[in-house]
This record gives sequence, C-alpha cells and structure tokens, in this order.
Amino acid sequence: MNLVIFGPPGAGKGTQAKRLVTERGYIQLSTGDMLRAARKSGSELGQKVAGIMDRGELVSDEIVIALIKEQLDLNKGAPGFIFDGFPRTLAQAEALDALLGSQSSQVDHVIRLNVDDKALLDRIALRFEEQKRDDDNPTAFAVRLNAYNKQTAPLLPYYQGKGLLKEINGMDDIDAVAGAVSRILDLD
Ligand code: AMP
Repeated sequence: MNLVIFGPPGAGKGTQAKRLVTERGYIQLSTGDMLRAARKSGSELGQKVAGIMDRGELVSDEIVIALIKEQLDLNKGAPGFIFDGFPRTLAQAEALDALLGSQSSQVDHVIRLNVDDKALLDRIALRFEEQKRDDDNPTAFAVRLNAYNKQTAPLLPYYQGKGLLKEINGMDDIDAVAGAVSRILDLD
C-alpha cells in the first residue's frame, strides 16, 4: 500500500501519517523529517540544505528523490509506505512512479487534506511557539505556502488524471480526519 498524503504545510499530514504508523505499521517517509535529521547530524547534505529550508524554499528534486530511493531500498517488504511532504513537484511525482514501478508497485491512494489559509496560519503560529521550527516563522511560512501553491498544487491534476485523488476536510478534528483516511484505505 503506497499512500501519498497531500496538502499545504500545516494541513496535518505528519499527524495523520504518524497515526497510520502506529495503527497499521506502515512506514512514514517524510522528506522534511529526513532533511531536518541531516541538518541535526551536521552532514554535508544538512549544511547544503539549511539556508534553503530556513527561507522556506524547496530543495532540489535530485536530493529528495535520492533520499526516498534510499528509504525504499532499505525498507523493502514493508506493509505500506506513507509519503509525507513528497512529491512536491511534477519531476518528483514522476520519479516516485518510476521508483515504485521498478519494484512492481505503484501509488495506490493520494489523499488531500483541505485546510483554509487562515486556519493554516493559526496552526503554524502555534507550532512556531511550541517547536521553534525556524521555517515556521511568518516570513518563511509565506514562502512555503507560495511554493505549495505554485509548485506542488499543480500535482493535483496529475493524480486526478490517474483516478487516485481523494479529498478530505482537514479542518475537522484529528480523530475525524483519521477516520476519513481509514475509510479510504479500507475500501481496497
Ligand atoms: P516539511 O516538513 O515537509 O514542511 O518540509 C520542510 C522543508 O524541507 C520544506 O520547506 C523544504 O525546504 C524541504 N523539503 C521537504 N520535502 C521536500 C520535497 N519533497 N521537495 C523539496 N523540498 C522539500
């Protein structure tokens, strides 16, 4: 089972992905988490992406595709993968199709969490206070939202054209969203 969980920053993708890890044993592949771990470790990759991430811009397709490939190879045979924050560009979506295809697999579901901009701003302001993530500051967040609207939202027609896109109201509470996600996954 391969699920792409889709939505703007602050939509609740990571929260829902973590529930699926606990409840179903799926593996969460969050490129944002991988990049933050690289920064924390002080690796060359971490140093290379730090400024880009703090500004709220996207790192290169090449970097994130390599991270995903590495994790897919490491976790062969897992019951499912949740792609969280990846793909974010058309090139990444095509690379994901190719990577999964080479393992005789495919994207099974794309679930979009719909949250309006005002609620996103409120959620991110709260997360900034709680977690002090540099790129949650208002200036970087505006850049991230813009990157989502310009570079990532255009993926929606790509997945819609493949009949994979399902939409969920991400404004509901966490349990209600989780229930809606589960119903989609259990349709198979
Ligand atoms: P996230 O935690 O998913 O919001 O990601 C935090 C930051 O990491 C983003 O603002 C980007 O700078 C970078 N990033 C994460 N995933 C990707 C991706 N798939 N493509 C490009 N940049 C990414």
